[in-house]
Amino acid sequence: MVRRPASDDMRARLETLVNIESPSGDVEGVRGVVDFVAEQLADIGKVRMDATKRGPILTVSRGQGGALLLGHSDTVWPKGTLKDMPYKDEGDWVYGPGTLDMKGGLVLAIEALRMLDGDTPFTLLVTPDEEVGSEMSRESIEREARLAPLVLVLEPGMPAGAIKVGRAGVGDFRLTITGIESHAGLDPDKGASAIKELAHQVLWLHGLENKVVSTTVNVGVVEGGTRSNVTAGHAEGRIDVRVATAAEMERIKKTLKAPPRFDSRCQVRYQGGFNRPPMEPNAKSQEWINQAGEIWQSLTGESLVGVRVGGASDGNYTARLTPTLDGLGPVGQGAHARTEGIEWRFMEPRATLIAQLVARAGTQ
Ligand SMILES: [Zn+2]
Repeated sequence: MVRRPASDDMRARLETLVNIESPSGDVEGVRGVVDFVAEQLADIGKVRMDATKRGPILTVSRGQGGALLLGHSDTVWPKGTLKDMPYKDEGDWVYGPGTLDMKGGLVLAIEALRMLDGDTPFTLLVTPDEEVGSEMSRESIEREARLAPLVLVLEPGMPAGAIKVGRAGVGDFRLTITGIESHAGLDPDKGASAIKELAHQVLWLHGLENKVVSTTVNVGVVEGGTRSNVTAGHAEGRIDVRVATAAEMERIKKTLKAPPRFDSRCQVRYQGGFNRPPMEPNAKSQEWINQAGEIWQSLTGESLVGVRVGGASDGNYTARLTPTLDGLGPVGQGAHARTEGIEWRFMEPRATLIAQLVARAGTQ
């Protein structure tokens, strides 16, 4: 079975990790983080580093066919943040950049893996570019997920310890419209206004929304035209689309490939796509959600809630391949905000939850 977590060791490791600043793209910073994680686990697993231009991908593994723990070494905080937002341990709460997302998650992974019996198989993958879309890591993530019976993502938990069982797929599209310029007063009929077409397109885009199944569309940026007395020859917009299911993702992709034209003299083009597919719970992941719930109940006396959220993570890549539980990391507040911090009382039950799930996955 698994032994008890060591709270003081977790505090010490968190302080060390938070004090290594590691914004995405800072190769030295993310290397510092994974070097420390590797050092903490070198006696129990095989360590591998794969270089990428955003820094190394760390894999620590033991045996075969064990659960995959998925974490990232990068943060959204620029270098120098520690100067006016230092690591602060107030006992019940611990604050600092990256405490919640996700240096606290890495601390939990280290502790959970050290709690296991020596023959339980596992793989821990720590990537350097999650906060910027995981372009360098996606292949490794999907390869390791295919080999695992269960994926545990160390992203922050939700209030009261809830985990994330569904995540939105996020689409990023650019609309480009080419019209025909002409003098707005002298030759209005010769012009084809790209801005007028854009206005129609924006309303049409909102018609693609389906709030019942959580599909949302936001046209967040528009620009176009040159002067008020010229019919606009050019206009463009930036669009964010969120979907909860693969079916909705396909519907949006297909629809934007062949958009209507409200003025046939204008050219209309949508470019872009979904950078992360939606994460949907299924029957298999539900079994693991139930198991996690039983364990959590026995540890805390409380039920474990599974929620669907609008943001994406690397769990979006793995959920299609392998049952995935996300948000197993620390519980706190203010991810990506200056109030970022961890509520410490959740750390021990979280480490035990992760350890027991890895132990169960290892005996499958
Ligand atoms: Zn994260």
